[in-house]
Amino acid sequence: MGYKKTETYDEKTTSGLMKTYGEALKWLGEDPEREGLQKTPERLAKAMQYMMQGYDQDAHVILNSAKFHEPISEMILVKDIEVYSMCEHHILPFFGKAHIAYIPNGWITGLSKVARVVDVYARRLQVQERLTLQIMNAIKETLNPLGVAVVIEAQHLCMMMRGVQKQNSVTTTSAFDGEFHKNPTRSEFLKLISANLSR
Ligand SMILES: [Zn+2]
Repeated sequence: MGYKKTETYDEKTTSGLMKTYGEALKWLGEDPEREGLQKTPERLAKAMQYMMQGYDQDAHVILNSAKFHEPISEMILVKDIEVYSMCEHHILPFFGKAHIAYIPNGWITGLSKVARVVDVYARRLQVQERLTLQIMNAIKETLNPLGVAVVIEAQHLCMMMRGVQKQNSVTTTSAFDGEFHKNPTRSEFLKLISANLSR
């Protein structure tokens, strides 16, 4: 047997959400029985459970599952990690990139785990500021590094499609800890994330 990916959804949650979304369609002036919409409440119920799966995940467990002793103390930077999250004020997506750096203090983690930590917190209802801080704290608490830095650049659909309708504005949030409070370290990090090594 080859690789097979399966998805499971909680039945009670799915049926509860389906009912609510069916009602919402009516309130929005739609006919939930018309052909194109018949399966929409179910699809949306499942999509929302997927996008909110972070509530059932623990970033600390993920980071600890690949924690290795390594006597290095140079900056480790993972940049351009894709971020897809939902703003808690409008339940509309915000998306962009995260750049995460830390300076180990005897312990490192798998690079893919750093990216997974982003998803754990992004797949919840969020504000970008809290998302940035939660990522930093999870790395700080599990690896106890000499410093952590997190920068997120994102575009918010609630700003682009409604309200002020600013199509091209990008919100940048940052969180720094330890060594990154010092100017030279922070400058090096900011220089690295703005450099484009691949071009
Ligand atoms: Zn919003």
